[in-house]
Amino acid sequence: MSKALLIIDLQNDFCPGGKLAVPGGDEIVPVVNGLMDKFPLVLASKDWHPEDSVHFESWPLHCVRDTEGAAFHPGLRSEEIDKIFLKGTESKDDGYSAFEATNHDLEEYLKEKGVEELYLTGLATEYCVRASALDAVRKGFKVNIVLEGVRGIDSTDVEKAIEEMEREGVNFVSYLDLAE
Ligand SMILES: [Zn+2]
Repeated sequence: MSKALLIIDLQNDFCPGGKLAVPGGDEIVPVVNGLMDKFPLVLASKDWHPEDSVHFESWPLHCVRDTEGAAFHPGLRSEEIDKIFLKGTESKDDGYSAFEATNHDLEEYLKEKGVEELYLTGLATEYCVRASALDAVRKGFKVNIVLEGVRGIDSTDVEKAIEEMEREGVNFVSYLDLAE
């Protein structure tokens, strides 16, 4: 088992109608669902904040643990997810990267499962997807971002984030290349 799909924060609060909505965030759901069967291992992160987090000095209140806003988008085939990694769980903790999850150690888990290559999807491109992708390459994983499977908030910031990720060795692929 060398590849895994990693879905970043595809939660209600990051989708239109949510508290920190990413424009078109829900449009990636069918792409992510379509990718699930192509991977032997499907993993997801969740933003999972306490109500009193320092994180909310920079952001509107979102993804408070155990609330509807922190639930996966209802269209996501979440029953196919093998393991969920909860991040931003402490009041002093932003938790942008899935590698900062506190319920399980993502790096250790991937190594245990023999995963060497990650395919990332989710929200938002220039924040949690970026932080997770950069952490993953620095930890020695081969990282691919599925272009149709991510959405960002600000197009200028997204462009900058993509340039930075490319510089750091993140690879960008199309859903179409995977749908064979
Ligand atoms: Zn957050």
